[in-house]
Amino acid sequence: MEFGFTKEQEQLREGVRSFLEQELAAESFAARSNQWVEGFSQEFSRKVAQRGWIGMTWPREYSGQGRSYIDRAILMEEMLRYQAPIGYHFLGDRQVGPSLMHFGSDELKKEFLPRIINASVSFCLGFSEPDAGSDLVAVRTNAREEGDYYVINGQKVWTSLAHKADYIWILARTDPEAPKHKALSELIIDLKSPGITIRPIINMAGAHSFNEVFFEEVKTPRTYLVGGKNRGFYQIMTQVDYERAGLERLMQNYPLFEKIIKFLREDKGEGARLRKDPIIRDSIGRLEVEYQTGRLFCYYVAWVLDQGRIPNYEAALCKAYCTQFEQRLNDIATRILGLYGQLLPGSKWAPINGEAPESYLFGPSYTLQGGTVEILKNIVATRGLGLPTS
Ligand SMILES: Cc1cc2nc3c(=O)[nH]c(=O)nc-3n(C[C@H](O)[C@H](O)[C@H](O)COP(=O)(O)OP(=O)(O)OC[C@H]3O[C@@H](n4cnc5c(N)ncnc54)[C@H](O)[C@@H]3O)c2cc1C
Repeated sequence: MEFGFTKEQEQLREGVRSFLEQELAAESFAARSNQWVEGFSQEFSRKVAQRGWIGMTWPREYSGQGRSYIDRAILMEEMLRYQAPIGYHFLGDRQVGPSLMHFGSDELKKEFLPRIINASVSFCLGFSEPDAGSDLVAVRTNAREEGDYYVINGQKVWTSLAHKADYIWILARTDPEAPKHKALSELIIDLKSPGITIRPIINMAGAHSFNEVFFEEVKTPRTYLVGGKNRGFYQIMTQVDYERAGLERLMQNYPLFEKIIKFLREDKGEGARLRKDPIIRDSIGRLEVEYQTGRLFCYYVAWVLDQGRIPNYEAALCKAYCTQFEQRLNDIATRILGLYGQLLPGSKWAPINGEAPESYLFGPSYTLQGGTVEILKNIVATRGLGLPTS
């Protein structure tokens, strides 16, 4: 049995690396933790698209390349290693495109899939609301039918990239009478539509990553309903399995890992002194074991997808494990660097340019976004291990 990558896969990795090295040298971006999705550049995404690296797993009939999910995992691993700015196309590639292929009408596929693949359109996802996060069926935003349109009223929250994207993909209540699970639908809305207000939320690290989005009598064409009316909840349960599965749940702060190891390897100075501490050596060794385990989980999920199965408890298990690793990395890196290690970027005294505390402040979000650890553990217990739900 051969557990390695094929020659073609190694070539793909090399190709992605050399592209990213060139872009890094041209200062298109800096390899800094948590920047992969903060970095939002249509120009960069266009270059990725020209190389056929958007929609690479999609079937050829949709202008994709029909490549494997393992290939896509290799691509993503390199993009994340360098923290390339992939925010413009990431959600379209990972989630919106596959969801449209599964559930969208021919008209929607024709309108959006080619534009996602050539980086001409970007999406954000509007599911969560002030009283609906883990419990998504509690969504209250409503969409009523009026002639050729749906008219939307309500509020979304924590909507990543709403201030930069072209379209928002929402979950809304389309039947006020039906039981909650059978009353929700998925709709696409042009973010330039009248009646939309986007208000920034600044996270603890000082970044404007997500937003509140308000809808007041916003019209979207009926043709922008995705899949079946009132089938939205069931559709979304499949879609989030794609959302949970990738290396982006392991490597959001990967540069910090590389930089802290480099710091400890230095010949002279603080790093050389600290690496003699057995507790630090133990912590760093443990992180490497955990990182490699998480990496194998991610590749396993890609392999499940390549078998034509939707990863369900596997994706939940992977995300629960990997995001907790990312938090431990922030924690251990900050501890190793001691008091000076708490200085934020900008201070000349901050080791590794303040990346550790900055990443620490991003940390709490890792185990919340895309499903909290508690919810994921429930999935592993019930769907993975067959425990009763109550
Ligand atoms: C950085 C970031 C980006 C995000 N981007 C988006 C986005 O683009 N679009 C979007 O729609 N949403 C987004 N979210 C929102 C995210 O999906 C929600 O935060 C998440 O689903 C949790 O929902 P909540 O915040 O309402 O917490 P709650 O659901 O209120 O949970 C609060 C706490 O209770 C626990 N809990 C809840 N129910 C159970 C249960 N049944 N059993 C055990 N414990 C439970 C949770 O684990 C958690 O610890 C983002 C969040 C973050 C942090």
